[in-house]
Amino acid sequence: MQPFTYAPVADAAGAAARALQGASFIAGGTDMLQLLQEGVAQPAELADINRLPLQGITEDADGAIRIGALTRLQDAADDARLREAFPVVTEALDLTASPMVRHMATVGGNLLQRTRCLYFRDVSTPCNKRLPGSGCSALDGENRHNAILGGSEHCIAVQPSDLPVALISVDAEVQIQHADGAERWVPVEDFHRLPGDTPQIETVLRQGDVILGLRIPAHARGRRSHYVKVRDRASFSWALASAAVALRLDEGGRVTEARIAVGGVATKPWRLPRVEQELLGVRLDRDRARLAAVWAAEGAVTRSGNAFKQPLLQRTVERAIIEAGELA
Ligand SMILES: Cc1cc2nc3c(=O)[nH]c(=O)nc-3n(C[C@H](O)[C@H](O)[C@H](O)COP(=O)(O)OP(=O)(O)OC[C@H]3O[C@@H](n4cnc5c(N)ncnc54)[C@H](O)[C@@H]3O)c2cc1C
Ligand code: SF4
Repeated sequence: MQPFTYAPVADAAGAAARALQGASFIAGGTDMLQLLQEGVAQPAELADINRLPLQGITEDADGAIRIGALTRLQDAADDARLREAFPVVTEALDLTASPMVRHMATVGGNLLQRTRCLYFRDVSTPCNKRLPGSGCSALDGENRHNAILGGSEHCIAVQPSDLPVALISVDAEVQIQHADGAERWVPVEDFHRLPGDTPQIETVLRQGDVILGLRIPAHARGRRSHYVKVRDRASFSWALASAAVALRLDEGGRVTEARIAVGGVATKPWRLPRVEQELLGVRLDRDRARLAAVWAAEGAVTRSGNAFKQPLLQRTVERAIIEAGELA
């Protein structure tokens, strides 16, 4: 491991100022420590942001829920208001990592988790995301866990976090503060970037930004929401495919709103507008769910090891629609 300086920071302005000077942050450390050990992250300075007052969950007068960036995943999973208003979010958290990791890991850190692509984490191999211009070992290599949606000839790595997938289905936004003091809100849907020819740039964050937290607006769709995750093992495993579905139905059982996002299959948490569109106005039943879910893999590009993800994704989305619609 390369030597670095370590210092705690006390407030968001101080943290953003350190970031502007090139410091990296450490929050729960569950990803950052691995990246340091693997030699993937080599910061000159590590700023510990755990003293920032960004922990906890509050409810606005209009019913919106705010989650501080340093809130631990387990605390968010245990929040009764969040579970009642947006079950898709707490279900995704229940299925994230293990209890031990969830007690350390933070909400802000989860949005910024780096890919689990084998080559990204093995510094002896070419990887455009880790070392721009060095090539992509996954294109013709071991790519079982890589993306079938959103990839480019430069990178097909999956963004592996569960939480942002669920957050997209309930229209959450990320609150960001820059070192110049300016604050901005970015929909979670727009927070991660496609790899294109710059896979090393993964989000819309700029040098000197710190994530303050999340806000989920109040809406009826949130209550009829559900997360399905398919993985190799029952715990401690990232998604091979996952789906977050939030629906609003009228009294006759017709879909009036649908928001669907998927994970484990794409280079960023991936929304499925065509599947949403197929559901609008229909009286939901199992056949309709199956027909709509066929569109989940629209535009998919498969490789030698990951073609199985195409039917898996369609079945995962179908199941999530059925369970969100309580048709099971
Ligand atoms: C064994 C294991 C299994 C796992 N399984 C899953 C899983 O199934 N699903 C899943 O989603 N995740 C999984 N994870 C990943 C885990 O959820 C993430 O590592 C964790 O959420 C990252 O949060 P952290 O606070 O530990 O971040 P850190 O490791 O401290 O930081 C991660 C990154 O975020 C940046 N950062 C952190 N906070 C901020 C902030 N407020 N503003 C700006 N930048 C910030 C850091 O600089 C760093 O770049 C697993 C991890 C392990 C170790
Ligand atoms: S898929 Fe992306 S992260 Fe994986 S080897 Fe290729 S460039 Fe690196």
